[in-house]
Amino acid sequence: MNTPNSDDADNPWKLALESSGEGVWDWNMGTGEQIHSVSAEEMLGYQAGELNQNYKAFISRVHPDDVAPLNIAFAAYMAGTVPYFAVDVRLRCKDGSWKWILSSGSVVSRDAHGKPLRMIGTLTDITKRKLAETELRDLNQLLGDNSRLLQTTLTSISQGIIVFDPDTRVRKFNPRVCELLDLPESYLATRPTLGELNTFQIARNDFGPGAHLVDERARSYVLAGGQGTSPRHYLRVTQDGRTLEVKTQTLATGGMVRTFADVTDYMQAKAALQDNEQRWKLALESTGDGVWDWNIQSGEEFFSKRLLEMYGFSESELRNRPDELDSRTHPDDVAQMQHDRQAHFDGLTPTYNNEHRIRCKNGNWKWVLARGMLISRDAQGQPLRMIGTHTDITERKTSEVLIWHQAHFDHLTGLPNRNMLRDRLEQEINKNQRDSQPLALLFIDLDHFKEVNDTFGHDSGDLLLVQAARRIKACLRDSDTVARMGGDEFTVILSDITDKAHMEHILQGILQSLAEMFQLGHEQVYVSASIGITLYPTDATVIEDLFKNADQALYVAKGAGRNRFSFFTAILHEAAQTRVRLANDLRSALAGAQFRVVFQPIIELATGAVHKAEALIRWQHPTRGLVSPADFIPIAEASGLIVDIGEWVFQQAAQQVRQWRAAIHPEFQISVNKSPVQFHHCGKLNAPWVDQLNAMGLPGTSIAVEITEGLLLDSSESVDQQLLELRDAGIGVSLDDFGTGYSSLSYLQKFDIDFIKIDQSFVRHLIPGSTDLALCKAIIVMAHELGIKVIAEGVETAQQRDLLAAAGCDYAQGYLFARPMSATDFDAFIAAQ
Ligand code: C2E
Ligand code: CA
Ligand code: CA
Repeated sequence: MNTPNSDDADNPWKLALESSGEGVWDWNMGTGEQIHSVSAEEMLGYQAGELNQNYKAFISRVHPDDVAPLNIAFAAYMAGTVPYFAVDVRLRCKDGSWKWILSSGSVVSRDAHGKPLRMIGTLTDITKRKLAETELRDLNQLLGDNSRLLQTTLTSISQGIIVFDPDTRVRKFNPRVCELLDLPESYLATRPTLGELNTFQIARNDFGPGAHLVDERARSYVLAGGQGTSPRHYLRVTQDGRTLEVKTQTLATGGMVRTFADVTDYMQAKAALQDNEQRWKLALESTGDGVWDWNIQSGEEFFSKRLLEMYGFSESELRNRPDELDSRTHPDDVAQMQHDRQAHFDGLTPTYNNEHRIRCKNGNWKWVLARGMLISRDAQGQPLRMIGTHTDITERKTSEVLIWHQAHFDHLTGLPNRNMLRDRLEQEINKNQRDSQPLALLFIDLDHFKEVNDTFGHDSGDLLLVQAARRIKACLRDSDTVARMGGDEFTVILSDITDKAHMEHILQGILQSLAEMFQLGHEQVYVSASIGITLYPTDATVIEDLFKNADQALYVAKGAGRNRFSFFTAILHEAAQTRVRLANDLRSALAGAQFRVVFQPIIELATGAVHKAEALIRWQHPTRGLVSPADFIPIAEASGLIVDIGEWVFQQAAQQVRQWRAAIHPEFQISVNKSPVQFHHCGKLNAPWVDQLNAMGLPGTSIAVEITEGLLLDSSESVDQQLLELRDAGIGVSLDDFGTGYSSLSYLQKFDIDFIKIDQSFVRHLIPGSTDLALCKAIIVMAHELGIKVIAEGVETAQQRDLLAAAGCDYAQGYLFARPMSATDFDAFIAAQ
């Protein structure tokens, strides 16, 4: 074969085709290049390699009368009305003679848009068959004439002919029919009736084994003992053992003429065409796909070897069980598969495409892409036959499933993630709308998780989260959902919570189990949890609102001191709304000059001297009146407005301290609260505080910065650096609210702290012999050890003051001495000392 492509030369079916004597062509539809095999060339009388190898040259050899039929056949194939391209054409041989050739083929590759790129096909010499057909046509014309020519023709024609009288007796016959049907002349000469002739043939087993394969009537005719219509097309085994294929035609012209033709050659050519089809199946198979061919009305189905192998079956196993594979389709996939098939039958889709799972012989599931196309319909348009392929897509599907899993589950705990939770919540709400079962949404947040992470490292933190996830899950029923939203936040959907008491029981269970000891490697760690709960449909019916509610409730649980749960309430909702409004109002407060700063004196306990004060901000809201910093500072922090506000407070304090250094004491120091947010957003817009102080002629020591333990917990390199800069500038650092957080000695050693402020909560219950007093004493001793001075906050009674003084506390601040006040009042307070 003249192909430059060695792959083609290796293709076994092409080689097999060559040896059968058929010609093969291979047409590149893009370039027009057309390659013919050696046998194709020989068929037309050319030497190997002599034929001009392109489509134009091929067309130039087609008989002018056959160009149109060729084009029609090609167009029909391209339009998809026939499964294969096939046409009878005359081709001019090298010597100028014509040969009838059956040319058939099909597209073997297409581009992404379905445009055909390459076709492969065969050339079969059918000259002999065509001549036979021509003869038959001629004969029919002759008989139509009923002329004298009849007698002469009858003796010379290659068809067998019997002419019957109207009473169905044999009137005339030609010698060929005796030869063809192996009927003795003497018998026909007795002029048997058609019925007698058939009975004679049946008795001889003329419509014998195999005949019904050609014409179903043959069998029923034989079974019915010669009643009904005799077969038109049957196989007959001759006395010398050859199998002849006989086709009869009946012409009613007064009496009746029946012709008998030996169509063995013709049928062989036709079989070659079918063989050709078989070869395309093989060609398709070579892509690794399995091929199927489905006779829709009979239900018969052909499966290629490769297809059966795909599912672990051998050919014989499924031969007589056409439904077997369908019955092995995954139940979840059947409906969609039938839907897609019907859509194709209805002409809605050009091809049938469906992905489904099939259970292999060994019980494993395989994902397949099934593709197919209807290739014939009956006259009523009912689908008759469909062919297609199966492609194994298990690998792709498995990775899709993996990707889906990654998108919907948390990789650390294996719990559903935020996406999945949303889906579940939607499902639950839909279900709820049907059966109206209320449900609860829980936001769970671990308290002090960050400390664990920072102290013991992220690996320990991860271990804790995994254990926490397990503990939460263990408190729930199977029908409930728990998801990890990220960080240390979990969300739970409690479905069907008609029993309120039971729900509270679950909530208590979660709190208890999370408060128990976590064993992380060698470390034993305790955390707790805060839970916010909202109820559907009582509190809200929309997912977004439920999330907001649960979040607000959680905020309250945390604010109320953690390790507790809190239900969403309308009041909560109002509070949340107030927060939103305050956040809006805060934006204009600074420009609107609604802030002022008040000062609270800090008294030196040993001497009663006042050389320090804390600056505290006040917000005079235009409509709400005075708003507490406890209410608006968190909002200012959340919105980042705290950066500008804090800067403004500092500047107020700096101006004030300059005055008081002149008027009250040269070492006077004002402390300013600085939010962690200010450290993290150390905007380069403002000059460093030390520079601002120096520009005012003030030393760093005139200001102290009050920080919280939270800042040190969160400390990053940038925060560490800023704290160092404060120290280098001489600015004091106070650790505010000491004792309420994760108070750790290591912070005091690690950072340069000048003062610690013992929190009000320790001072409030200070009485002789109390634990709080012991704690205060310990703090003071420890601080002094480290060279740190101690300030007690919230001192309201003389007893508190005296106890603290006795414990060696350096300073005190509280209503006992003075409330925070304006600078003018502060001046008066000093003057009255
Ligand atoms: P803080 O830093 O702990 O301030 C001390 C708070 O205790 C002040 O509340 C003060 O008025 C109050 N206080 C003082 N003596 C007593 C007492 O004897 N008994 C009681 N019960 N309370 C006393 P205030 O002014 O409402 O401030 C609340 C919090 O707001 C402050 O707590 C501080 O964290 C924050 N804050 C105030 N001003 C600022 C500021 O300018 N910037 C920042 N970032 N936070 C500020
Ligand atoms: Ca403070
Ligand atoms: Ca404080």
